Amino acid sequence: MTLDPDNWQDFREQSHRMLDDMLDYQQHLRDRPVWQPIPASAREAFKEAMPHTPGTLADAHATFMQSVLPYGPGNAHPGFFGWVQGGGTPVGMMAELLAAGLNANLGGRNQMPIVVERQVLQWVRELFGFPDEATGLFVTGASMANMIALLVARTRALGGSVRERGVSGNRLVAYTSDGAHGCIAQALDLCGLGFDALRRIPENAAFEMDIAVLESTIAADIAAGLQPFFIAGTAGTVDVGAVDNLTAIADIAARHGIWFHVDGAYGALGMLSPEIAPQLAGIERADSIAFDFHKWGQVPYDAGFIIVRDGQQHLDTFASPAAYLRRDTRGMAAASPWPCDFGPDLSRGFRALKTWFTLTVYGSDQLGTMIAGTCALARYLVQQIARHPELELMAPVALNIVCFRYRCTESDRINGAIAIDLQESGIAAPSITTIRGQLVLRAAIVNHRTTAVDVDALIRATLSIGAAHCSHPES
Ligand SMILES: *Cc1c(COP(=O)(O)O)cnc(C)c1O
Repeated sequence: MTLDPDNWQDFREQSHRMLDDMLDYQQHLRDRPVWQPIPASAREAFKEAMPHTPGTLADAHATFMQSVLPYGPGNAHPGFFGWVQGGGTPVGMMAELLAAGLNANLGGRNQMPIVVERQVLQWVRELFGFPDEATGLFVTGASMANMIALLVARTRALGGSVRERGVSGNRLVAYTSDGAHGCIAQALDLCGLGFDALRRIPENAAFEMDIAVLESTIAADIAAGLQPFFIAGTAGTVDVGAVDNLTAIADIAARHGIWFHVDGAYGALGMLSPEIAPQLAGIERADSIAFDFHKWGQVPYDAGFIIVRDGQQHLDTFASPAAYLRRDTRGMAAASPWPCDFGPDLSRGFRALKTWFTLTVYGSDQLGTMIAGTCALARYLVQQIARHPELELMAPVALNIVCFRYRCTESDRINGAIAIDLQESGIAAPSITTIRGQLVLRAAIVNHRTTAVDVDALIRATLSIGAAHCSHPES
């Protein structure tokens, strides 16, 4: 038996309806709420027993349209300010359709999809000024990319034998700022080094890694007989979007022979904008960079990327000699090394295609302009906050994340309630975070669809919901 349709003509017509529905959805996103609570009926549709007999594509599509599409996470909507998530694009959506139709497995072998991935790698080298020997690949996201970087640095620090003998007895220590993403600590755990091997360096007034404390901590660790091996600078911190002083970190890493990694999950693609790139100075000196095309790059989820300057060290960390993965110089098993030699994944989807389409159709200049535009909107939001005495800016704005609060006694409780009410209003969806012990509203402007109209709506809704909640405004 085959799983292909009995009647291709019917299938074709139903497929076109599905495509039209998704194009309608993207075209008219603005008319929908950013987010809405999920009704019980939608959840119930996904508590069925295993369907043993065939259903129709039309029925499955109807269930999707009714119970899934309206209750998504909201990040495609221009009023989404919640977290650092990209909005996706119609181009990316169409490329995903092509990739799924081709159904390529990019673990390895001699096929054009891997050539497409290498084209994107070449563009990434170009973007960051990395040499041709640099290697890289698509992964799920920056969390995985950061872990791959840590593993390569671990192999460099302990030698290839760590792959046979493990990490027992090692004295490795790593460094990152207090504002770093939690996946850095998680990576130390997953690599067998443990959370305790991570030094969390405090942030300065600009929420950047305090360089003097980094130096003194490294010195103390060396004096204690430990082996500093990895510094992760952040380009665009999660809470406030700060960029560490990458040049200073590069200098310190070079002086001590420590691996210099940049977690540029969202910020690294600021290199696409001549206006933002100077803020990332020093990134071109990194030993490795982790970043996501699915955040500022607007490529549909997921599309993380890792690039490693020294391709040989990258290969030495992951290549393995499984018999069924043996290589030839001709035929389908040619074109070694393969992507599976550079990371833990063997089967891999064609993430490169939607990224290639995005860069090809929009062009890097336009993407850079869009990225700079989100930063301009953040500055506009800062201006609006300054115009309203009820609001207070709570952290400096380096890129596109704005932390603010509604001034009220019981500030934490009131601002927490404002955030939830805003999300449930469907008008604008910020998140909350904690800045120097205080709960604040956090607006991350990442979506290419967001305009000043959406920022105005956020301000207006915050003011009216805030006034309703706050019975004792701060004087
Ligand atoms: C989003 C983010 C991550 C995690 O990336 P994923 O793609 O979600 O795995 C790591 N670091 C920073 C700074 C981030 O913004």
